[in-house]
Amino acid sequence: MIKGIISPNLASPVVKLPRVRPMVAKRLKNLGIETVRDLLLHLPRRYEDFSNVTAIRDLKAGETASIKGEVASVKSQRTWRKRMMVTEAVLRDATGSVRAVWFNQPYLSDSLRQGYLVAVSGKVSLDNRGLLFSHPSHEVLRGARTEKGDSDMLHTGRLVPVYPETAGLTSRWLRFLIQPLVKTAGDWPDPLPAETIRRQTLLPLDQALQQTHFPTTLERAKEGRRRLAFEELLLIQLSHLKARAKISELAAPAVPLDLAEVKQFVASLPFPLTNAQRKAVWEILQDIAKPHPMARLLEGDVGSGKTVVAAIAAYLASRAGWQTAFMAPTEILARQHFLTLKKLFPFGTASAALLTSSEARFFSGGEGMTTSKKQLHAHIREGLADIVVGTHALLQKHVAIPKLALVIVDEQHRFGVEQRASLIARGQTRAEAATPEAPNAPLNPDKLTPHLLSMSATPIPRTLALTIYGDLDLSILDELPQGRRPIETKLVAPTERERAYRFIREEVRRGRQVFVICPRIELEDANSPHPNARGQLALLRAEVKAVTVEYEKLSKEVFRDLRVGMLHGKLRAKEKASVMARFAQGELDLLVSTSVVEVGVDVPNATVMMIEGAEHFGLAQLYQFRGRVGRAEHQSFCLILTDSTSRTAHQRLRAVIEAKSGFELAEKDLQIRGPGDFLGTRQSGLPDLAMASLADGRLIKAARAEAELLLQQSADLVRWPLLKKQLAEFESEAHLE
Ligand code: ADP
Ligand code: MG
Repeated sequence: MIKGIISPNLASPVVKLPRVRPMVAKRLKNLGIETVRDLLLHLPRRYEDFSNVTAIRDLKAGETASIKGEVASVKSQRTWRKRMMVTEAVLRDATGSVRAVWFNQPYLSDSLRQGYLVAVSGKVSLDNRGLLFSHPSHEVLRGARTEKGDSDMLHTGRLVPVYPETAGLTSRWLRFLIQPLVKTAGDWPDPLPAETIRRQTLLPLDQALQQTHFPTTLERAKEGRRRLAFEELLLIQLSHLKARAKISELAAPAVPLDLAEVKQFVASLPFPLTNAQRKAVWEILQDIAKPHPMARLLEGDVGSGKTVVAAIAAYLASRAGWQTAFMAPTEILARQHFLTLKKLFPFGTASAALLTSSEARFFSGGEGMTTSKKQLHAHIREGLADIVVGTHALLQKHVAIPKLALVIVDEQHRFGVEQRASLIARGQTRAEAATPEAPNAPLNPDKLTPHLLSMSATPIPRTLALTIYGDLDLSILDELPQGRRPIETKLVAPTERERAYRFIREEVRRGRQVFVICPRIELEDANSPHPNARGQLALLRAEVKAVTVEYEKLSKEVFRDLRVGMLHGKLRAKEKASVMARFAQGELDLLVSTSVVEVGVDVPNATVMMIEGAEHFGLAQLYQFRGRVGRAEHQSFCLILTDSTSRTAHQRLRAVIEAKSGFELAEKDLQIRGPGDFLGTRQSGLPDLAMASLADGRLIKAARAEAELLLQQSADLVRWPLLKKQLAEFESEAHLE
């Protein structure tokens, strides 16, 4: 019946639809809906089950029900006190009558006339005049111009979709907009190959849309959603696989796998490598020996020893005459890596530079020195520095690393995709070292592209990694070095605080050191999707205040006699470094800090990690904090404090305590909070549906396998032009973000 009137293209803007006036379009935009496809993929949050029609006689207060009846009377009145328009109708069926009341819907008395047959769904309540439906969903079944059969009912008498709403745009409205579209879905070609639909037992597109929006049963709704999610996951995997194929066509400097050299280096280490480390080293060295760029993610629990794995690769590259760039997210961490490398390299065999915004250091032939930035830039440019360690400072235009063969990015999630890409593109500037080209220029296939090793201590379950970092190969360190004792982790109730302080004092008396982490401050502004500079500043100030208050309390009262230091994001880099150095050298007993210590800091003598307001942190972050202790032979402890009485909060904190590894914890976090909170929707940049199905490992694996199969059968998807087109659209949208 509606066919022909609307035959919109999925990509056409919603304003082209009848009923969508500019105002509505604007509201739709608030929901992120701009095209017909967006609208169709605006999926119900849940469904209300109005599928059973109740006889009016059987209605009970407090229950949700649907009835069908004739309008016996309607009247609209303005209440004098609240100046609100109230519309009241009396509805009658063969068994009795009931009132239905709506507020501020003045037009209702036009569309609901005496004698009309209507269906009403909603919650039944009771007032002094009897039972009533308050603000129910309703639908005219037989009116002046309408004649509807049961199957046409949109808002009542079935599983009714409830959508995410926005001001001025109700689920009711959305149903109106979406239903005619769903009806025409049969006219749209399905982008999925028929064989894929068969192989994966999926619903075809039109049925999937119909069942997701207006399902016959909840079971069918699930199937519809599964199909739509599969399509997104498939596009993601196709995109990853194509990116990998493209990288593998680029040329890279091959670093020969000199086994004798590797063995000698490993033998010089003060410890044997773990099996996991050996395996990762092997995977990496094999990759960088190839004349095509490596793209690998090294994931490993905090303390699993990623640095040394990276160092071996960097060392081998230096022996072959190449340079390595090693980028870390904070100055503290960059300096620590620099010092670690200095220790690890056999005397006089390699040189390294440290470049941050506040520091320039160089060592070569066993000699260390602080130097001018200008000098350092010259050393790097002349290829004298084998390994260049630094922060974002490495991304500056004038930093030229002419013989760059390997890029190592530590705590890679702290960097944007562009920053990583920019560092890689830097490797291609070697020919024009004097006039570096724009770092974001597309990679030139004729030049050498450096190998990339990304490192992360955020353990991400394999299937998740496959989706988010599906263009990278994965090496996992799932084993801690021998001799580490598990960290004793305890949830400390507010009443046990004094005991916890006594315990800390005891540890300090034994010569150990303690971290106290202050809670993350939640501010409206700073959490908005686009936190502005002011919001971030406000957040920083609030955190500084919290940590200062805690510092005052601990240094002047609780631990007056101990040496207490403070660390937060507003300190100048030099001050931060000096506090960290004093703590590392044992000149401070206690370090009160904001989450700046989260990443990578290594102080083996610290044995207690006390976390205040723990419910404010993500599980992965708590896990990171805990990893700051237990780095040497001493038994270490993690004390988790919370005032929260929420069950979920406690459940989450318990998970940290019980987890045997970061990977196990990640799985749990994913289950408890769902992928959205686990990753932060913003961070992942994934489409909603794919996001929502990330916990479904089987679906992800199936999508990956299907993508591999399709590309294998038709390298450029030429056999499936619709899918190819869909992928191109998907990729161009993903790039816009
Ligand atoms: P992360 O993976 O968190 O970056 P690090 O590389 O900082 O961990 O290593 C943590 C600590 O473990 C360092 O002090 C390092 O020297 C030490 N370490 C690394 N590998 C081993 C090993 N195989 N045996 C013993 N200690 C090790
Ligand atoms: Mg590290």
